[in-house]
Amino acid sequence: MDNVVYGSELAVKLKQDLKMKIENSIAQGYRLPQLAVVLVGDDPASLSYVKGKEKACAQVGVNTITYTLSDTASFDEIKTLIETLNQDSNVDGILLQLPLPNGLDSSELVNLIAPDKDVDGLTPLNMGYFFNNCKGFVPCTPLGVMALLKEGNVTLEGKHAVVIGRSQLVGKPLAQLLLNSNCTVTMCHSKTSQLKEITQLADILIVAVGKAKFITADYVKKGAVVIDVGVNRVDGKLVGDVDFASVQPKASLITPVPKGVGPMTITMLLDNTYQAYCQHIGKDK
Ligand code: NAP
Repeated sequence: MDNVVYGSELAVKLKQDLKMKIENSIAQGYRLPQLAVVLVGDDPASLSYVKGKEKACAQVGVNTITYTLSDTASFDEIKTLIETLNQDSNVDGILLQLPLPNGLDSSELVNLIAPDKDVDGLTPLNMGYFFNNCKGFVPCTPLGVMALLKEGNVTLEGKHAVVIGRSQLVGKPLAQLLLNSNCTVTMCHSKTSQLKEITQLADILIVAVGKAKFITADYVKKGAVVIDVGVNRVDGKLVGDVDFASVQPKASLITPVPKGVGPMTITMLLDNTYQAYCQHIGKDK
C-alpha cells in the first residue's frame, strides 16, 4: 500500500531529530526541558493519552511531571496548581488534559495557562497570534496534519482542501494553516447540506468528525489526498472517521488509523515544548 503515509514512521524520524537537539543543549550545560501535565479524574482515555505523552517525552529527553487530581478537585484547586506552574522557571510547557470532569469550565482553566507555556496552543492569546499570522503556539493535531502533508510531498498551493469538523482544537486551526499555505479551503460541519457533493470536489479531504467510518469511497474524488483525524473505539479497536478499506484504493494518498495523525499530534507537542524550552533558556532552536 504505497499510497499510505504513516505518522508513526514520520514521528520516529522527527523524535530522533528532537532527541539530538536536546542532547546538544544538555551537553552545552542547559537544564532539561520540562512538561507539566495536569490530569483531573480517572477517565481511562485521558489516562492512556497521558501515558502516551509521558512515554514520548521520555524518548526524546523531555522531563514530565504529571499532577493527578481527583475528579472532585475544585476549580480553585486546579487554578492554584496552574498558577504555581506558571511561576516555576523549570517548567516549559503546561498541558491540561481534556476533557475535564463535568462541572469544570475547561476554557476558563486553559485561559489561566501562561501563553509562553501553552504548548497546546489553546489560550486566546496564542489563538489570536495565530490568526494574525504572528508567532505563537499552534495546536498540535493541525500541525501534525500539515507535517504529514509535507511528508507526502502534497502540493498545497491552489488546491481545494475540504475540512470536515470545525472544532477549536482541530478543524478551525487546520483550515487556517491550509489557507496560509494557499489552499482554497471549504469547511464543513454537522449543519452542512450536500456534504457529499462538496467532499467530491476536494483535492485534499481532511476528516475530523468523530464518527467511525463516516467517509466512504463515494464521498471521495479519485486521486484525492485523504487525512483521517478521527479516533473512535469500536469493539475495543481504534477506527478512524474514514472507511479505510473502501477509500484507500481511490485516494492518491491516505493516512491510517491507528499510526496516522495520532503519533504526529504527540510529536508536535514535543516540538512545541522544545520551542518553549528554547525561548525560556534563551537558546536558538
Ligand atoms: P468535536 O469537537 O466533537 O468536533 C466534531 C466536528 O464534527 C464538529 O465541528 C461537528 O459539527 C462535526 N460533525 C459532527 N457530525 C457531523 C456530520 N454528520 N457531518 C459533518 N460534520 C459533522 O471533535 P474534535 O475534537 O474536532 O475531534 C474530531 C475527531 O478527531 C474525534 O474522533 C477525535 O477523537 C479525533 N481527534 C484525534 C486527534 C489525534 O491526535 N488523532 C486529536 C484530536 C481529535 P458541529 O460543529 O456542527 O457540531
